[in-house]
Amino acid sequence: MGQNNAEGGCLCGAIRYKINGKILGAAVCHCRDCQYVCGGAPSYVFLVTAQSLEITKGETASFRSTADSGAIRIRHFCKACGTPLFAENSFYPDVLSIKAGSLDDPSIYKPAAHFWTKSAPNWHCIDPDLPSLPEGESRDPK
Ligand SMILES: [Zn+2]
Ligand SMILES: [Zn+2]
Repeated sequence: MGQNNAEGGCLCGAIRYKINGKILGAAVCHCRDCQYVCGGAPSYVFLVTAQSLEITKGETASFRSTADSGAIRIRHFCKACGTPLFAENSFYPDVLSIKAGSLDDPSIYKPAAHFWTKSAPNWHCIDPDLPSLPEGESRDPK
């Protein structure tokens, strides 16, 4: 990916955002929580620094939960149409994961790894050419 200044938003248009910085990475998360949030599918996300996400329109609603990793996740979504948009992770407070489906042009998205494959149902597609982990990334020791 690496594309700067990508823009996106939710299905109804109430929320709009802009990325003012580098995309740090991209991954597919198969954890059970993501299956709920994505309607069964894994979560296709890319990572940016928290300060590079600029909400240019509207205000998100959020839901807080404890992930299988033990991290507190705060998931932000549109309260009008329910589109999942981005999430905070207490293990990586400077990083946000943004749902690829919310990009204006989702074709710029390119996943680089699969996480939590042990939670994937057998009908999830897992690219055999990408690194995959049965669980998440281990907690950053920094
Ligand atoms: Zn919306
Ligand atoms: Zn997940």
